[in-house]
Amino acid sequence: LEWLYSFMIRLRLPGGFLTGDQWIGLHDIAGKHSTGVIKVTTRQTIQLHGILKSHIRPTIQQFSLQHLDSIAACGDVNRNVTCTSNPSESPLHQQVYELAGKISEMCLPKTKAYYDLWIDDELVVERKAEEDPLYQDRYLPRKLKIGIAIPPNNDVDVFINDIALIAVIENNELVGYNIAAGGGLGATHGNEATYARLASLLGFVDSEEKALKAVYEIITVQRDFGNRSDRKLSRLKYTIDKLGIEEYKKEVEKRAGFQFEPVREFTFTQRKDRYGWVQNHEGKWFYTVFVEHGRILDIEGYPLKTGLLKIAETGKVNFRFTCNQNLILSDITENDKAEIETLLTEYGIAHYTENAGAMRKNSVACVALNTCSLALAEAQRYLPDLVTKIEPVLEKYGLQNDDITIRMTGCPNGCGRSPNAEIGLIGTAYGKYNLHIGGDRLGMRLNTKYKENLGEDEILGSLDELFKMYVEERLPEETLGDFSHRYLSLEKA
Ligand code: SF4
Repeated sequence: LEWLYSFMIRLRLPGGFLTGDQWIGLHDIAGKHSTGVIKVTTRQTIQLHGILKSHIRPTIQQFSLQHLDSIAACGDVNRNVTCTSNPSESPLHQQVYELAGKISEMCLPKTKAYYDLWIDDELVVERKAEEDPLYQDRYLPRKLKIGIAIPPNNDVDVFINDIALIAVIENNELVGYNIAAGGGLGATHGNEATYARLASLLGFVDSEEKALKAVYEIITVQRDFGNRSDRKLSRLKYTIDKLGIEEYKKEVEKRAGFQFEPVREFTFTQRKDRYGWVQNHEGKWFYTVFVEHGRILDIEGYPLKTGLLKIAETGKVNFRFTCNQNLILSDITENDKAEIETLLTEYGIAHYTENAGAMRKNSVACVALNTCSLALAEAQRYLPDLVTKIEPVLEKYGLQNDDITIRMTGCPNGCGRSPNAEIGLIGTAYGKYNLHIGGDRLGMRLNTKYKENLGEDEILGSLDELFKMYVEERLPEETLGDFSHRYLSLEKA
């Protein structure tokens, strides 16, 4: 790290939640120590970029005063646990959200070195006294991601996780979880052994206790069987495909001491956030703000960051983050709603959220250039402009109100989940992208590479042709993703 001078910090926020006071603290820290941009990530948390080496410790110390940490937000451990964001989705949201916190706690590395290194110079515990039954002396072969979805909304894109939990609600009661394993979207250009994969369903468990046990043992199997000789092939998905799903499941069941029950029925009907106002069963209000690619900053004519600070300063809202890189102003009482509404209007937030086009609201982009050192191409700085150029093409075919998902990443690592979109653009070189199509709208089927190394004109031309075919040949109710999948299958046949 000697030569590196600028860093990123990512918070651990299981289920993606901050109080209004914590938001005020975050706003202050971002201004003092980073580029100032607050970035909502696709894993429902916050990143700050451009932190100079001498600012790392003060940043972490200040976060600690806000009761926030970045433990295990990076590294070969379990990362931030995601969970369906909007409490209005279900009266049982709180219960499921709490499970995200419990999983996160259970999977934290036991070392207290973080506090010794970053908070003060006092040894919190003697090193030799630290034992870590989960990670032992070797951690995991690679990072591990866990997500929990509450149907019918798959806003967390649950199947892209190494471990996916789907809440099963019957007769208004949470009866357990379907558990899947082996999702992961990363691949490497030119390395055919690497691939994106969605998680495979293992089965159902009928209690939170069993869900925690199953998650724990899925991790221990990965710890013991995962590939440690080739990092490119070390995610859980490769372990499962190497062992075979049945063998893998048997090993998890043996360690857990119980067998999975057959998968219980579940249905996803949407994957997007519920923009604007919604109310939950307790009468509390939630306003989902559209934040293009999660970038919270003030720009000329749109002081989003200042507006959110003013809203936090009312002391009447909490902040929640979504895996679609948006933000929910949450837990607002009926009496306070009008005051928040006024601020949303005053700072242009309501106008922006209400008037952004459908494709823009269904777009996701990773950080990429100039911040991510692995990026081959632009993503969050470019996709907004590209969508502006695609919008007239959509209008030409009457598709401007269609919720088509489009995602862009600056490399094939998949942080912006481009393999799981109806239109995926994956950077290959500066200004060039592979175009993938045919993913389904709900996150249950990956897309397929359609064309390689396209520049902007070629992308626009290809989409024009695709949209034309779609409107002329689609079946009733067929989404663009389903049409493209059918089209590619016919082409192959
Ligand atoms: Fe960086 Fe690639 Fe991840 Fe984008 S997908 S943030 S370019 S590693």
